[in-house]
Amino acid sequence: MLLLGFLLVVLIKPYYRNDRMNTIDMISETIEKLLLKNDVNNNDIESAARTIIGNNVCAIIYNENGKSIYYPPDSLGELCMLDKKITVGDLSYNIKSEPEKMIELIKNDNPFYETIYSQYTGIEMLLYGKQLKTNLANYYLILNTPLEPVESYIDFIMNQYLYLAMIVILISLVLAFFLAKNISKPIIQMKNEANKLAQGDYDAKFETNSFSEINDLASTLDDATEKLSKVNDLRKDLIANVSHDIKTPLTMIKAYAEMIKDISGDDPLKRNEHLDVIIQESEYLDKLVSDMSELSKLQSGVIEINRDNVDMKECVERVVTLLSHAVEEKKVKLIVDCDDCVAYADEIKISQVIYNFLSNALKYSDENAEITVKVKDSENAIRVEVIDNGNGISKEALPYIWDRYYKVDKNFNRSVNSTGLGLAIAKAILEAHKAKYGVESELDKGSTFWFELSKDYEEE
Ligand code: ADP
Repeated sequence: MLLLGFLLVVLIKPYYRNDRMNTIDMISETIEKLLLKNDVNNNDIESAARTIIGNNVCAIIYNENGKSIYYPPDSLGELCMLDKKITVGDLSYNIKSEPEKMIELIKNDNPFYETIYSQYTGIEMLLYGKQLKTNLANYYLILNTPLEPVESYIDFIMNQYLYLAMIVILISLVLAFFLAKNISKPIIQMKNEANKLAQGDYDAKFETNSFSEINDLASTLDDATEKLSKVNDLRKDLIANVSHDIKTPLTMIKAYAEMIKDISGDDPLKRNEHLDVIIQESEYLDKLVSDMSELSKLQSGVIEINRDNVDMKECVERVVTLLSHAVEEKKVKLIVDCDDCVAYADEIKISQVIYNFLSNALKYSDENAEITVKVKDSENAIRVEVIDNGNGISKEALPYIWDRYYKVDKNFNRSVNSTGLGLAIAKAILEAHKAKYGVESELDKGSTFWFELSKDYEEE
């Protein structure tokens, strides 16, 4: 508004002057056309008069002899200089009483422009003269208009401007208040939720109903909160699992060792039975610790992937041999359906993945169930599938089974060798291979764990 006001004050005079000049040219053209017409009628004269009246101009037309032939009414009134004494250069005269002087000036300088000053108001005025030639005679058109807006006109404009400025400022203040409130409200709300989060309250909800950028930010923060909450749960699970999983076998080992010392030391049968428990528990501890260190090494990127050509059929057969004891024990029907194919991968690590998939399939299948291991060689990839018709996994649990220490059934019998790390290790290995992997599973129907080793791998 300040800039507008400044421009208004600075530009009003030059703009007005320019407008006057254009008006004078326009009126002169209209009257010239009128005089050049052969049959001038009353309508034409009226419309010429109207342009003069409505435009702050006074006019007069003389013939060659200095006789006024047209002196229309005007809106200038007292301001009109045509009947007053004016000074042009060193010549002082009254146009109406001495028209020949003016005609002379026009003849010398056609069209004639001169700025004069009104003696009464001091306003700068334009005096314009033009010779209009027709077939019959020559005429002289003389026009007079102020070149500056009168003070009252400027005052009027400035007053209007001030009112307008006040209304605009008022409206903008109200708008700014509402906008600021609407923008800052969700941000303040989000800040409060962030404080809650900082104090470990994962129930913080950022969701707002504001404009799209804030909504995006809120949903990103909600996502982050959900992930943080998961990490927190995992951390709790980790502590719970580790302390439980390590403490239980340690208690068993201690108890059985005491039993051997106090009771069964002299009874070889009982002693062996108790020693077997101690060995089994130690093996579990050993597996847990090596799984944990394997995973942390994989996740910290300490272990390198040493790719080489791997005969997949041989690889699967080796894993099956390793697990043959468990297969026989559970009386599971194991079907191996492998294409002859070679993958470019880290043999030990890929065997570990197949081992984890297959041992899970065995763990979570009932006796006499059926398990299939498939290796299919396609154009772009080698796909390995381990299919069982065992327990299956619920839809809710599916996204989490690849997380470390995640067990669907938290109370699952510990003796089945469940550390909750098998799939996390498989995931880390497969991601290091940039392989695709996944699982399809339905509760009580069975699961299919799969991965695909791409044939166009990139050299790391
Ligand atoms: P765990 O040592 O407990 O088997 P994993 O990381 O190998 O740990 O698996 C995580 C969880 O995923 C398991 O606790 C189990 O509930 C579920 N799971 C894995 N494989 C299967 C399967 N073939 N069938 C049913 N559930 C499975």
